[in-house]
Amino acid sequence: MTARTPPAELIRRKRDGEALTDADLATLVEGMVDGSISEGQIAAFAMAVYFRNMTRRECAALTRAMARSGAVLDWSDAGLGGPVLDKHSTGGVGDTVSLVLAPLVAACGGFVPMISGRGLGHTGGTLDKLASIPGYDAAPALSRFRAAVRAAGCAIVGQTDELAPADRRLYAIRDVTATVDSIPLVTASILSKKLAAGISALVMDVKVGGGSLAPSRDAALALADSLHAVAADAGLPMVSLLTDMSEALGHHVGNALEVLEAIDVLTDRRRDARLHAVTMALAGEMLVLGGLARDQAESVVALERALASGAAAERFARMVGALGGPADLVERPERHLPCAPVRIAVRPERPGRVTAVDARALGWLVVTLGGGRRRADDVIDLAVGLADVAGVGDEVGDDRPLATVHARSETDAMTAAATLRAALTVDDGPSVSAPPVVLERLSGVRS
Ligand code: URA
Ligand code: CA
Repeated sequence: MTARTPPAELIRRKRDGEALTDADLATLVEGMVDGSISEGQIAAFAMAVYFRNMTRRECAALTRAMARSGAVLDWSDAGLGGPVLDKHSTGGVGDTVSLVLAPLVAACGGFVPMISGRGLGHTGGTLDKLASIPGYDAAPALSRFRAAVRAAGCAIVGQTDELAPADRRLYAIRDVTATVDSIPLVTASILSKKLAAGISALVMDVKVGGGSLAPSRDAALALADSLHAVAADAGLPMVSLLTDMSEALGHHVGNALEVLEAIDVLTDRRRDARLHAVTMALAGEMLVLGGLARDQAESVVALERALASGAAAERFARMVGALGGPADLVERPERHLPCAPVRIAVRPERPGRVTAVDARALGWLVVTLGGGRRRADDVIDLAVGLADVAGVGDEVGDDRPLATVHARSETDAMTAAATLRAALTVDDGPSVSAPPVVLERLSGVRS
């Protein structure tokens, strides 16, 4: 029997700033999956990494161990007839992109086996949004996941006991222990899921600004560099876009509300300029990386056609059906999605123009309404959130509220209204234009 270093000793080493070996990290990851390491020990390890950071080598080793903690998919013998691609975001508020992008890329010939996660800290999670679709199986057996990707061209699921189980456990603990915004932990969390999915190229949406995990451009670039270095180590081609998260993306923030928003966009009923710009830029990069378009301009033509023709909406419906959701979700979302009992349109104290948004405060507001977790085992309220949130440059007043709060009770709604008023700055100065949303493109580690 080989003696394994006890977890407390590995945690101590990290706490004292030592670098862990590949074998040490493999031991920790194994313990996360087989349950031999407790929640408290995982939290202590995450906090030690938060304060002491990791070398690139450690981060790459942690990523590899986490990717291999479950199955690593191989699509080479699946006869899909198209490239296997994915996109992932570092996390934001109201970031509905994945729900629109996956079916959109599928409609253009790509295959997207997307492993997403729950909400993290103040940021929303695609997995929680999908939980609002009755019957949708976001933790399918591998055979069902593969069948859905084949049938719809895309399937969005979460980490399971079979796919990236180490991230499943670590992620849930980071969410509630203030250890989300650690560069090596974010890198390993994201890339372990993407490597397990067996994709051949990745587009990263690295968010910058108050609503993201990287408040400044420098912080976002440091995170992007880490992601690029570890992706290169794993031989995964990757392009990153830095995109603005200084305000919420799109018109709704909240789980069921964002599914509704995605359906609005996919069916071309409603288009939000910033959400659209980010989705097109990321999906366009995917088509180019996958050899489905020569350049961004050609991508955009194909993507616009897939939206206008209904092909993207049809892929979304097929994905929902393949994973057990209602067949008529796209036609009648209001029949299936949960809906909050209290809705209050919140008006500004005085009319004017929105000049700044505290996106982080909006994210925490939704958590406080019940839409996110305070403890890892909390059951969240899928129906609550903010609808029609005003953004920078919007005129607000008696006939244009700041947002409509969707809440479980009057008391919750009143508290949320006060937080909302504090989170949006309204001035009567000259008009301000909305900030640009796609900021920079990176195709590798900066030298
Ligand atoms: N998305 C993830 O999957 N993990 C993180 O740590 C942050 C964003
Ligand atoms: Ca949104």
